[in-house]
Amino acid sequence: MHNRDAVFLEDLCPKLRDRRWRKSLHEYTCKSCIYCGKNSESIDHVLPRSKGGLSITENCVPACLSCNGSKTDKDAFEWYRKQRFYDPRRSMALRAWTEGDIRLALRLLKWAQPKQRESFEGSKSLLNKDYSWQTA
Ligand SMILES: [Zn+2]
Repeated sequence: MHNRDAVFLEDLCPKLRDRRWRKSLHEYTCKSCIYCGKNSESIDHVLPRSKGGLSITENCVPACLSCNGSKTDKDAFEWYRKQRFYDPRRSMALRAWTEGDIRLALRLLKWAQPKQRESFEGSKSLLNKDYSWQTA
C-alpha cells in the first residue's frame, strides 16, 4: 500500500523520480567517477544531449566535475583514451554500462579500483578517520 503510494507520488512528481534516479546512479559506483575514480559530483551523458543522447541509465554515468567539464560534448571513448588516468578496465566498464550491463560494469570498476571495494563493504570508520585527519 505504501509502495503504491510512493510510485503514484513519483508519477506526479517527475523531479522527485529524477532525483532518486540520479542518486541511484551514484550509489552504483559508490559515488565514484566512472572515468577517474574520484568523487562523482555529477551525471555525465555518454552521448551528449546536444547529439541526441537520452537521459536514461545506459547513457548516464556518475562523473566528477573535472571529467564532466573536460569531456563536454566529445565522444566519451575517444576523449577518455586521451586522458592521463585512462584505464582499459574502466573503458570496458563504460562500454558495458552503455550496453545496459551495469553488473558487468561494476565488476570491472571494482577490479580497476580495489580500494573502492573496501568502501563498498562499508568501512566507514576508515573514512571518518581520514576526515578527522584532514581537518586536524
Ligand atoms: Zn573523473
